[in-house]
Amino acid sequence: MSLPDPIRLVPDEASEFVHQNFRTTIRGSAVVIACVACVYAVALWWLGDAQWWHHALIALLAAALQPCFGPRAAYPAFLAALLLLIGTCTLSIAHLALRYGPSALFHALLLAYTPVLVTSGRLPLWAKGLLVGGACLLTLWLDAASTARWAQLSAAAPLDLPTAGTLRQLRSMNLLALGMAPAVLVYHFFTLVRRQHHAMAGLALRDPMTQLFNRRHVQATGEALVAQLLHRPQGGPFSVVLLDVDHFKAVNDSWGHEIGDQALRRVAELVSRTARTSDVVARWGGEEFLLLLADTDEGQALLLAERVRCAIAQDPLEVQGQRVALTVTIGVAQSLRAGSFAEVIRHADAALYEGKRQGRNRVVAASGVGVEVRPADLAGA
Ligand code: GH3
Ligand code: MG
Ligand code: MG
Repeated sequence: MSLPDPIRLVPDEASEFVHQNFRTTIRGSAVVIACVACVYAVALWWLGDAQWWHHALIALLAAALQPCFGPRAAYPAFLAALLLLIGTCTLSIAHLALRYGPSALFHALLLAYTPVLVTSGRLPLWAKGLLVGGACLLTLWLDAASTARWAQLSAAAPLDLPTAGTLRQLRSMNLLALGMAPAVLVYHFFTLVRRQHHAMAGLALRDPMTQLFNRRHVQATGEALVAQLLHRPQGGPFSVVLLDVDHFKAVNDSWGHEIGDQALRRVAELVSRTARTSDVVARWGGEEFLLLLADTDEGQALLLAERVRCAIAQDPLEVQGQRVALTVTIGVAQSLRAGSFAEVIRHADAALYEGKRQGRNRVVAASGVGVEVRPADLAGA
């Protein structure tokens, strides 16, 4: 009896990402090969080469193999398709190099393989080294072989050789292809890195349940605002709006944890919708949310907090035809001339606590609840 595979507690997402990326690279390269082969077919036909249709066939092959390079194709099919495409292209390049000689530079096209070979996620470094070395050696060998054959043909039947003008045109075409290939590949990796960075930043800075910013991000932003105030004391103050859902434990107890989660997502949505685009809206933790308002004094912050409170109180969550009424209590505090971000949070928290004490579903300003805030301490006062 065979034992089941051990469960992977930590999935190896990095290598899965690299494998899929290699497939994307190969799929994209096959599209590039199809396009380039079409251009070569037309150019060779125009130059009177009777074998121009070889390249039309390569274009068709590269297009037909696309499904084998897809993310869900089986690995053996992927590998077979890749080897078939590489083999066909190599034979075609070798044939053209021998036919047109070294000055047309067809043999140099083999060097376009090397950047693609090193992006494989499965091959060990030594195998990549071997493949790259092999491609370089094949290029050198083809260079020598086409030089020898060209000398032979020049001596035997010089009139059958392509004209100098034809060779120049082919050389220009190949140089263009060699210039474009790395640019396309590097651009592919550039967009990939940018997209990946964006996704990672989203994971690092956002709360997965509400998609709001997380505590870490808002804390870093708050500390940056405090530092800015220290360097530019004449700049406007910022404010913190700390919001706690009232009696949320009772919501969980009556409706269950899943509806509780839904309620938190609804609160997050209403807070985001009411906030201005310049405000940082974050999940501070559990059923607490925080808004960081740059260039906003306590008076303006109180108005926004009141709008948030009303939006939540007036828009209950509907669950199977029943209403889950939600209210929030909000503490508001303004930045201080001197003092840390943690201190501003402490003031907002004290105001929030006072709001709970007064009966909940209300907005309370830190300056109005004796939180040791003297008007002279307030930034921008
Ligand atoms: P108060 O009005 O004083 O704030 O009362 P409360 O019940 O909201 O406060 P308490 O701190 O007693 O309970 C908070 C509850 O929020 C308890 C916790 O299980 C729940 N909670 C925290 N995070 C989540 C979450 O992500 N999902 C759900 N469904 N519940 C959560
Ligand atoms: Mg709480
Ligand atoms: Mg609460």
